[in-house]
Amino acid sequence: MASNSFQPIQGMSDIAPPDVYIWQMLEARAREVFARYRFEEVRTPVLEKTSLFTHSLGDTTDVVTKEMYRLQDRGGRDLSLRPEGTAGSVRYIASGGEETANARIYYIGPMFRCERPQAGRKRQFHQIGLEAAGAPNPLADAEVIALQINLLSAWGLEGAKIRLNTIGLPEEREAVLEGLREAIRPRLAELPEDAQQRFETNVLRLLDSKDPAVQAVIADAPSVTELLSAESRAYLDTVVETLRGLEIDVEIDTSLVRGLDYYVHTVWEVVHGGLGAQNALSGGGRYRIQIDNKTIDGVGFAMGVERMIAALEASGVTADQFPPKPAVFIASLGEAALKENLLLMQTLRQRGVACEMELTNRKIKAQMKRANKIGAATVIIRGDSELENGTFVVKNMGEGTQQELELPELMDLMGKGGG
Ligand code: AMP
Repeated sequence: MASNSFQPIQGMSDIAPPDVYIWQMLEARAREVFARYRFEEVRTPVLEKTSLFTHSLGDTTDVVTKEMYRLQDRGGRDLSLRPEGTAGSVRYIASGGEETANARIYYIGPMFRCERPQAGRKRQFHQIGLEAAGAPNPLADAEVIALQINLLSAWGLEGAKIRLNTIGLPEEREAVLEGLREAIRPRLAELPEDAQQRFETNVLRLLDSKDPAVQAVIADAPSVTELLSAESRAYLDTVVETLRGLEIDVEIDTSLVRGLDYYVHTVWEVVHGGLGAQNALSGGGRYRIQIDNKTIDGVGFAMGVERMIAALEASGVTADQFPPKPAVFIASLGEAALKENLLLMQTLRQRGVACEMELTNRKIKAQMKRANKIGAATVIIRGDSELENGTFVVKNMGEGTQQELELPELMDLMGKGGG
């Protein structure tokens, strides 16, 4: 791709009008839904110690080993731009002791991963996510999933699906991995070379491989659920039953494992058909994260804003459906009117009316052109004779009508929404 000095760096974008209006809608509605479920916003720094991410996300995961923007500051400290929001949130939760032991927090902001840019993969992307701290409880997992469903419908997204699975507890993990290895080992030769390596380093990740050769072998292996304890299976059953009680349908997908090390019990993804290969809108799950000598249990999810917008667009929800409130335009004929209009504009703005005017003494035709361009619903015109009479010509652009008003009438009209 050609690049010049006006473009942001590869994989990053300016988010500007008109696109930014759909971003604002998503953020505003998310804040409303979070407040209803009693979650509060926490804004953690985008830069953290690298060790926070390596310890919490796991130091063999792709995100940590290959994708972090890692840098040394002037004091020689090893820092990284956050690749996701959970590690910083959990650091915050750990910092507050008893106060934050059961924190319910959300975040909205940019994340950074130095991945190969392609459709649906950016290097700076944005997430809206939340974390509910507290001991494992299937009802808490179901509550967070229910919130997510509510959020998707508040955004107007149709056709999203939730795929759910369990990966059990850390103490069972070795037994699960061994069970899988045992089942796959006799057919190891049928796997491609990179999959054979995965077999050694992270056999769980074979489960979500899209390679048909791997899938054929996996199809005959037991599922993670089958290898788990009765207790872990019961936990998953309670999550599903609770969701059913809330009239929420989820699909159990035993191939879903998710990429990060910190998950326990419930994991899920939200997928959407309108997105092509990168079809995940959101990842979520229950986790147990160790920070220094503290263990934080919680459940949360992160939704990718860029992908959410792509999915919304595929279902007919677009930025132009969320324009800003139409403005009032003030046109001046002559120097004296221009000065007086500055005071009028200031007064209207202080009363909550969005308005703008031409600050140079241009011809009325040019001013009306600009009023049209900004989509003004009302134009207030003042020249010498109006100044003398203490009146205002008010033009309703939608109806093409015009009336002459005195100040109290004008203020009354503006108070009713600008005309
Ligand atoms: P993850 O933490 O990888 O599960 O990411 C959670 C969500 O963030 C995904 O489901 C995507 O919607 C989004 N996401 C992750 N990585 C990227 C990326 N490089 N570009 C755009 N969106 C992303």
